[in-house]
Amino acid sequence: MSASLEAKVVGLCRELVRLDSLSGREQRVAELVSKEMRELGYDHVETDELGNVVGILGAQTTQASAAFDAHMDVVPVSDAPRWTHEPFSAELAEGCVWGRGTTDVKGSLAALVVGLGLLPRGVLQGTVVVSASVGEEAVEGLALASVLTRHPVKRVVICEPTGLRLGWATGAGPVYAWRRPAWQPTPRGLSEASMPCTS
Ligand SMILES: [Zn+2]
Repeated sequence: MSASLEAKVVGLCRELVRLDSLSGREQRVAELVSKEMRELGYDHVETDELGNVVGILGAQTTQASAAFDAHMDVVPVSDAPRWTHEPFSAELAEGCVWGRGTTDVKGSLAALVVGLGLLPRGVLQGTVVVSASVGEEAVEGLALASVLTRHPVKRVVICEPTGLRLGWATGAGPVYAWRRPAWQPTPRGLSEASMPCTS
């Protein structure tokens, strides 16, 4: 990753983390994601009735090649006295971004929105749907199902933290069953890349 790209991803990640977005209160994050997508030149950007932000790269078709999803909400802060950095400070320290939701999944959301948005359009084959969904921490998959109903795709990539290893999702219809890999996320393992360190 180039230094400028890394700075842009980390910068957006920190902006996202500073916005407290408990399930049902994702509006400010949604507005920021939507603004970022428009500035990056996504071909279509919409916010649906649930509050999901959907960016389209490529022509709008009846079936896109792939969808990438990262949720915008976070769980409440627990064990506040044990946090070594203020949960919504998005402090950059020890080569990491610290804060609630950094690993799960605002770091992924920032990388997804920026990384795909900056790809030269000729590189992408077909149409790609980028979904920033609401309420995943409350009802996993329900908001994404709404997105996929309106934007059918062949494949879905869920950008949950898995220690940089791939897990496979299986299922039929709009709701996908996530088969968790037999490993735990290793947030510290991400620190060398100046990526998020804690959720
Ligand atoms: Zn998550």
